[in-house]
Amino acid sequence: MDDLVRRLAGIVGDRHVLVDPGVAAGYLTDWTGRFAGSSPAVVRPGSVPEVAAVLAACNDAGVAVVPQGGNTGLVGGSVPLGGEVVLSLRRLSVVEPVDRAAWQVTVGAGATLAAVQEAAAAAGLAFGVDLGARDSATIGGMVATNAGGLHLLRYGGMRDQVMGYEAVLADGRVLAHLDGLLKDNTGYDLGRLLCGSEGTLAVVTRVRLRLVPHYRQRVSALLAFATVDEALAAVTSLREELASVEAIELFFGDGMELVCSALNVPSPFGERHEVLVLVECSAQHDPTDELASVAGELPGLADVAVAREPGPRAALWRLREGHPEAINQLGPPHKLDVTLPASRLGEFVESVPAVVRSVAPEARTWLFGHAADGNIHVNVTGVATEDESVDEAVLRHAAALGGSISAEHGVGTAKRPWLHLNRAPEELAVFRAIKAALDPKGILNPNVLLPPAAEVAGTPA
Ligand SMILES: Cc1cc2nc3c(=O)[nH]c(=O)nc-3n(C[C@H](O)[C@H](O)[C@H](O)COP(=O)(O)OP(=O)(O)OC[C@H]3O[C@@H](n4cnc5c(N)ncnc54)[C@H](O)[C@@H]3O)c2cc1C
Repeated sequence: MDDLVRRLAGIVGDRHVLVDPGVAAGYLTDWTGRFAGSSPAVVRPGSVPEVAAVLAACNDAGVAVVPQGGNTGLVGGSVPLGGEVVLSLRRLSVVEPVDRAAWQVTVGAGATLAAVQEAAAAAGLAFGVDLGARDSATIGGMVATNAGGLHLLRYGGMRDQVMGYEAVLADGRVLAHLDGLLKDNTGYDLGRLLCGSEGTLAVVTRVRLRLVPHYRQRVSALLAFATVDEALAAVTSLREELASVEAIELFFGDGMELVCSALNVPSPFGERHEVLVLVECSAQHDPTDELASVAGELPGLADVAVAREPGPRAALWRLREGHPEAINQLGPPHKLDVTLPASRLGEFVESVPAVVRSVAPEARTWLFGHAADGNIHVNVTGVATEDESVDEAVLRHAAALGGSISAEHGVGTAKRPWLHLNRAPEELAVFRAIKAALDPKGILNPNVLLPPAAEVAGTPA
């Protein structure tokens, strides 16, 4: 291993190879604190040729590599749980000039989401994916996890934004298809294949992204209801009747109280409400009146807070986006990010706390999510990090109702044992064949996504 570390230092320079666990600490533990590992070296290349040389060296030595961007992933996929080398892409952060004619921009894998949003805004455009970790999450990580986020309803997820890609294979060969042509049926779409590959197929180094219109007028409203049924009926009406709708989020009275107390955020309401729907509309004309007219007809609407200016809108959004941070303050949570079919969402929300209690009576369940996508984040606190009985129970429950065990965070390490709930043995065999074709020695993130070979037959341990 010492030889390899010396070779890596020769490629990227001594100061970009971190071997001291104290110095490397931020690269070794995930955002939740639930997953922590160790690594012989954290390597921080500054160019694509350096990425290629690092991978070739690790491949020659048969040493596994975990690609890492902003390390905001929530499924234990970005940290070296098996003692892998960590390959940090953060230095590849160049945002090239926006192509105004094409409504596209090419960016380095290490560019943060916020940097891309700023570049798009400066060109009078916007980027279609947004999420709470925008200041740290990188475009490479967002491609690798196929991030969803707050605006999927209107613009789709990360896969829908990728117009071109550049990536390095495990053996150091560089693939690139960055033309960004809207119509280009010249074979397999390898860029989109990398979306959701979680660092197992190749290391993303550059991405050409689609941009979307920048809507000048914006309004947010927090709508309060007494029951889940009323709130979900409101979500359907808002989607159906508002062309300007950009985001519809769901959270609950206990989560809102936690955010208010943990993060010292004021509530816009004088009393507690059980179910909250946060809706945001944007358009070139002011969408406030059309939102007010649809909201005014919603059955069961108990209270509403409306915000048009950036400051008050941010205060309403803090109530939703503050959930992960406030929950983390209770100790490392088990984060189970699931999607349900629209017709089963209410049933899942109502029943999942009892499912959790059946295996962990002392645990607390916190629910929030992207309501219009059927995506609920089930966060469970008060359970030992290594106790997976809650994960098993919740994921089985979601799958039994026709849902997915991973809506947008990916499978990572956290959900790998349950991938068979959504993917048949035949599909897993094809996944494995693709992995073997691109990474024959299996050095790229070997401990995420795909279950160990012995489990492929559908008989998980
Ligand atoms: C507060 C908060 C809010 C969040 N909200 C959302 C949300 O709304 N929607 C959502 O989808 N996610 C959300 N996330 C999760 C997270 O931000 C996303 O998964 C994001 O895409 C991860 O990006 P990253 O750069 O931090 O990747 P990392 O955490 O560094 O890595 C994630 C995965 O991608 C791989 N990877 C990273 N970079 C590369 C690369 N260049 N090439 C190949 N593989 C790579 C890693 O190996 C790992 O498997 C949230 C996280 C936090 C902390």
